[in-house]
Amino acid sequence: MSAASPLRSGAPSSGLRPQGARRPAANPWRVDLRELGRRAGSMQELDRTAPAPEDWRVELVGVPAGTEVRLRLRLESVMEGVLVSGEIAAPLTGSCARCLEPIEDTLSLHVQELYAYAGSTTEATSEEDEVRRIEGDYLDLEPLARDSIVLALPLAPVCRDDCAGLCVDCGQRLDDLPADHAHEVVDARWAGLAAKFGTPSTSSPGAPGESPTTEEN
Ligand SMILES: [Zn+2]
Ligand SMILES: [Zn+2]
Repeated sequence: MSAASPLRSGAPSSGLRPQGARRPAANPWRVDLRELGRRAGSMQELDRTAPAPEDWRVELVGVPAGTEVRLRLRLESVMEGVLVSGEIAAPLTGSCARCLEPIEDTLSLHVQELYAYAGSTTEATSEEDEVRRIEGDYLDLEPLARDSIVLALPLAPVCRDDCAGLCVDCGQRLDDLPADHAHEVVDARWAGLAAKFGTPSTSSPGAPGESPTTEEN
């Protein structure tokens, strides 16, 4: 008889939950602090992935939206709030600032940040944007991850530390060319002359006082 009406299994009846209610646990960037509690010294390890948002990029490199950002963090309850520390790792894609080749890499960095409780001294004595805050029973890791990662993105990423870039004469990738790749010196001289006297092999109409003979002679 009792088996016919199990309390904790079977298809969930949507009628039991408030419709459209947000379930913060579904957002992997948010951390439910109820398990950690507020007793100073209690600790919790967190190891999860969360999807990268849209705007984590600088000019040449960024974290592709939707890719998995790995969070391996330790949450520690302290007097003023929760201390978050650990590693954040995110995949990067972009292009080399010297040769424009595609780049794929992983950015890993260490973070340590205090999230302050509402009403704590830290919160009360800090400017609005100086301190991260705990919102109710949750803290949001996304702003911390975004700030840390975007700040660490290289403005001039390179495919290799010794990437030689592009040949200034032909625009090919020097690393793909033989070591003795060069252009004839005469080309360089022509280039110099061309720069000095204007475009070569175009008759300039009327350079005043320059030509020793006139056409109408
Ligand atoms: Zn390169
Ligand atoms: Zn070249």
